[in-house]
Amino acid sequence: MRVVMLGPPGAGKGTQAVQLAGRLGVPHISTGDMFRQATQDQSPLGQQVRSYLEQGLLVPDELVIQVVERRLNEPDCQKGFVLDGFPRTLAQAQALDRFLQQQGQPLDAVVLLEVPDELIVERITGRRLDPQTGQIYHLRYNPPPPEVASRLVQRSDDTEETCRRRLNKYHRETEPLVPYYQQQGVLRRVDGTLSPQEVTQRILEALGVK
Ligand code: AMP
Repeated sequence: MRVVMLGPPGAGKGTQAVQLAGRLGVPHISTGDMFRQATQDQSPLGQQVRSYLEQGLLVPDELVIQVVERRLNEPDCQKGFVLDGFPRTLAQAQALDRFLQQQGQPLDAVVLLEVPDELIVERITGRRLDPQTGQIYHLRYNPPPPEVASRLVQRSDDTEETCRRRLNKYHRETEPLVPYYQQQGVLRRVDGTLSPQEVTQRILEALGVK
């Protein structure tokens, strides 16, 4: 099954994409994770994208499209994938459609996680990452166990100012994908304000996964 997770930053796309990919037995592909890894490794790609990530700006379309197409050509994507954080612009969505059409493997569904802006800001500014395990916590909604609390870090783009800028970008550049996918008949709307477990359940129902 080929699925795209859509929704504002902080809607829970990452958390849900991991669950869904595990359930479907397909890779979870997060462009944000790929770019963060590249900046940590100080690879040439990392050097190209670092300043965009730090400022909460979108990485240029051509570069993102190139990175994603290379990843989708890997053998583990033959049976499907869950894309998280891509596409984020109409140009990216059109490039993805062209790529998948060439392979005769169009998208099965686009899951839109709906969460209001104010809740997003609260979620993002309280978000903390355990660099050792990759586990994501929230100071209020999903507090970390005391033994890991001291090693948690905040992503440099998880401040309120950056968050608001990213939300504005989302509304301007990514939200047009909602009518785009609705027209294609693949859009599935899911209430992202519920608990993570309930959201997972609704996504599985919306996709008809038993
Ligand atoms: P994320 O973890 O999905 O919030 O992504 C973190 C950052 O990576 C974003 O703020 C962008 O700078 C960059 N990024 C990730 N995915 C994309 C994309 N599809 N298009 C452009 N930039 C992206």
